[in-house]
Amino acid sequence: MRDPRYDILFEPVKIGPVTAKNRFYQVPHCNGGGYRDPSAAAEMRRVKSEGGWGVIFTEQVEIHHTSEITPFIELRLWDEDDMPGLVKMADAIHSNGALAGIELAYSGANGPNLYTREVPMGPVHSPILTFTSDPVQARAMDKEDIRNLRHWHKLAYRRAKRAGYDILCLYGAHGFGIIQHFLSPRTNQRSDEYGGSLENRSRLLKELISDARDEVGDTCAIAVRLSLDEMAGEQGFSNAQLRDLVAMHAELPDLWDFAHGTWEACSGTSRFKPEGAQEELIRGIKQLTPKPVVGVGRFTSADMMVRQVKQGILDFIGAARPSIADPFLPKKVDENRIEDIRECIGCNICVTGDMTMSISRCTQNSSFMEEWRKGWHPERMPAKKSETKVLVVGAGPAGLSAAHRLGLRGYEVALAEAGADLGGRVTRESKLPGLSAWARVRDYRVGQIQKMTNVNVYRDSLLSADDILGFGFEHVAIATGATWRRDGVARYHLFPVALDSAMPVFTPDDLMAGKLPSGHVVLFDDDHYYMGSVLAELLVKQGCRVTYLTASTKISEWATNTLEQGYIQQRLLEVGVDVRVTRALSSVQAGGVTAACTYTGREETIACDAVLMVTARLPDESVFLDLKARQAEWADSGILSVKAIGDAQAPAAIAWATYAGHRYAEELDEPALGDALPFRREVARVKD
Ligand code: ADP
Ligand code: SF4
Repeated sequence: MRDPRYDILFEPVKIGPVTAKNRFYQVPHCNGGGYRDPSAAAEMRRVKSEGGWGVIFTEQVEIHHTSEITPFIELRLWDEDDMPGLVKMADAIHSNGALAGIELAYSGANGPNLYTREVPMGPVHSPILTFTSDPVQARAMDKEDIRNLRHWHKLAYRRAKRAGYDILCLYGAHGFGIIQHFLSPRTNQRSDEYGGSLENRSRLLKELISDARDEVGDTCAIAVRLSLDEMAGEQGFSNAQLRDLVAMHAELPDLWDFAHGTWEACSGTSRFKPEGAQEELIRGIKQLTPKPVVGVGRFTSADMMVRQVKQGILDFIGAARPSIADPFLPKKVDENRIEDIRECIGCNICVTGDMTMSISRCTQNSSFMEEWRKGWHPERMPAKKSETKVLVVGAGPAGLSAAHRLGLRGYEVALAEAGADLGGRVTRESKLPGLSAWARVRDYRVGQIQKMTNVNVYRDSLLSADDILGFGFEHVAIATGATWRRDGVARYHLFPVALDSAMPVFTPDDLMAGKLPSGHVVLFDDDHYYMGSVLAELLVKQGCRVTYLTASTKISEWATNTLEQGYIQQRLLEVGVDVRVTRALSSVQAGGVTAACTYTGREETIACDAVLMVTARLPDESVFLDLKARQAEWADSGILSVKAIGDAQAPAAIAWATYAGHRYAEELDEPALGDALPFRREVARVKD
């Protein structure tokens, strides 16, 4: 039974000619699959329909081959060949009564056209504005180009309607679409009727929406997605200009969808942006228009959603990441199962799937993008196939996920943890600056396990191979985690660095255990993700002076994929960390270290009081190896299988560990696949 205070979230809302059944609006989001994995992407959206979302969008859909963003993988609507994938997705979205939205994108000055080799075009001559600084410019559009652009949009509108979409949204946010390039004085310095005043700069938007209404407006709602603030001062499309635009064209679209300026600002990680971070930028806009307003903010709290609606800030609760982490969020609110919501932790691992053109994964929801490939489901597991009992050793993200998912299958599970606390690395890391949301990985799983009578948790239980052989569980999952190396080995150094015992050398494990250096610390980061930068912040907070050496050209290089590299480097520079890029530690001696330029090999010495190595990790595999060595004794103990999972097998980011736990549970008692692929995929159709 729903708590009446959430009733407002389940009110139907009219959007032009269509009506959403509730206020839960899954805004467009990429998934790294797109046109390459159409069935995987469609099934992912179907599961969200099952989870109760009122509106579900595609990712960005490139409407015409003259503008595309290869190497990034989104959807396309270039000709009839793209229709089956889009029809499949619309059908999947409709399966449980959601409205299907399609985000139509013409990337303009953001599309380098590396695949189609067409010459890009935008409002003016300008370099292509992408993550990758491609050596390509867009040419300035003339009137014929604008006529063509309108024509291509009309083709897309008709196809989108025919494919079954209810809401057509023109993409003009994040700096990614031509609509924003025309709206912004920064990218539109035209002197004709499409440039200059705001009225002129919005002419293209007005024409495109009018055309859409003429073409398909009888049955389809027409929406627009715009940036709340381009974050380029008055030179750019500012929040004040956006408000003027909405007031000027208050009734133009059927719905206004707002997102922060850049993608980095809009999809900030929890380390840098709290839930509801865009509230001040959006507050008051709804009062400028009679049309419904959508906004995002990594909303996972139903109370905050209710407040935003009641205070007249939003009509729809826009969500990408919260819908990825928990596709059943609306249903859980509806059924008053708030404590079952699997809250997004704001890590942006999902974004990395798009940025690395692989396929997205989610730290919290391991079934994301495996719904079709592997048949996984965020809420359900296949029933157990035997009465065997399972011992899971270690209660970090891998062990907790395995125990939870095995529990859902109905197995009898014992989860043994060496320490008094559950959560392993997420418990330790969540105490570091900015990472408190990491604890949600533990809290969700512990909360679920506590309700299960078939999963028993044993704390303070450091197990050895002897213990395990004595127990008599049929299956044993070893999820004992990993330890940071102290010897400097990672990517740059494949052999240990010479260490003088006169210099104290620390690891991230030391710091997380409360063993802190003092004075001037040289931090060597050859990990390149978040840990080095987080520990640098911690050390500065503790009063240390920090010199940060990285072999890369920037701090936390991999965090470019989580959209936070810029924020990280900015923060470290602001708190006074001495950042030295393209520098690798060469040796550690009494009183200091020697560092070398990674290009020239030129060496410098840096006097310091301590060294912090943020390098590679090694699996804590001793129990696993001991058991393997004693395989001959398994049968007598009743053991059928022993497997290392998560960091105990190969250390990686947290999402890999939760995935490993989930996978272990899915595959237990399943027949071996032999040489077959462990997932489904689609291979491009070969034409003559
Ligand atoms: P992962 O990311 O793979 O889940 P973690 O390092 O987060 O790995 O968690 C591993 C957990 O396993 C830690 O909480 C640790 O205390 C526990 N652990 C390690 N060795 C043993 C053992 N021999 N018996 C029981 N628990 C163990
Ligand atoms: Fe949230 Fe991280 Fe999952 Fe993305 S990967 S939805 S940010 S928990």
